[in-house]
Amino acid sequence: MPGLREALAQDGPTFSFEFFPPRTTAGEATLWDAVRRVEAVGPAFVSVTYGAGGSSRDRTIEVTKRIATETTLRPVAHLTAVGHSVAELRHVIGQYADAGVRDVLVLRGDPPGDPKGPWVPHPDGLTHAHELVSLVRRLGDFSIGVAAFPERHPRSPDWDSDIRHFTAKCRAGADYAITQMFFQVEDYLRLRDRLAAAGCHTPIIPEIMPATDFRQIRRFAELSDARFPAALARRLEAAQGDPGAGHAIGVEYATAMARRLLDEGAPGLHYITLNRSTATLEIHEAVRPAPVRRRAGPPAAARS
Ligand code: FAD
Repeated sequence: MPGLREALAQDGPTFSFEFFPPRTTAGEATLWDAVRRVEAVGPAFVSVTYGAGGSSRDRTIEVTKRIATETTLRPVAHLTAVGHSVAELRHVIGQYADAGVRDVLVLRGDPPGDPKGPWVPHPDGLTHAHELVSLVRRLGDFSIGVAAFPERHPRSPDWDSDIRHFTAKCRAGADYAITQMFFQVEDYLRLRDRLAAAGCHTPIIPEIMPATDFRQIRRFAELSDARFPAALARRLEAAQGDPGAGHAIGVEYATAMARRLLDEGAPGLHYITLNRSTATLEIHEAVRPAPVRRRAGPPAAARS
């Protein structure tokens, strides 16, 4: 299997899916069902989010290792600096390397409890993602992804500092970025233009979040500060109590976004599954390039 860096450099978009480590046995079953369905469509990679607490972190490591050893999928392990000393971060990275995981999505993370509260670094830890990128780069031959924010990181006072700090992650060794969820394609295109103007051409993979449930999406949008289009909110609100209608609206909107992003040259699409594959696989099926049909060539003997 080519490395993720090589896969991103190849022609054509990459498709990838994001999972989170479940807390319950029922959640486990749902996750592995989704993982197996996604495996069948051959994505470039799948990623597993990293939680704020010890037990959730252990589950991330377990799920990531299991994907590496029991499936044909390439797992990308999320890793944050939250509450970790540098020695602990080294240990987690070592655990991934021992399991054959060579791809890490490096994040600063948010304060546990109140994600919008003040950031307090671990006394022996790191403060910004670019420091963690440098650490992972020093520790081995990992492909490294970082986070990008089409609507600007909520803590960035202005675009200049946001772009400056993003490019610092790329200079530290990031190979690609995945965006925060967003709902207007123009925000992605403007971010890409700003980065290009700053001389940064790191591939930025847009994250696709099918908005199928009004209350859930409102909560996510509040947490991430993503602007949610009023017209889509009205449609979803009107569909409350009818999951089938909400599903159809969310898939239709995300499919149109995904098509436009690919038409605009996005290097791939990263689908948030919430451990349920149905909506994201429907979008994927609608937008993925048709398999190339090769015309039968002359028989081997005629070529020699
Ligand atoms: P940074 O790049 O460090 O940026 C954070 C803020 O600090 C920005 O405003 C930046 O401009 C500023 N900054 C950076 N460097 C400096 C500097 N030198 N001086 C001053 N200011 C600076 N969170 C999790 O807990 N677990 C996950 O699994 C997870 N997965 C994610 C996946 C994706 C695709 C995305 C987009 C986000 C994910 N997050 C996750 C959330 C992420 O941890 C938060 O959004 C966090 O607030 C920002 O992380 P970062 O890596 O962008 O931080």
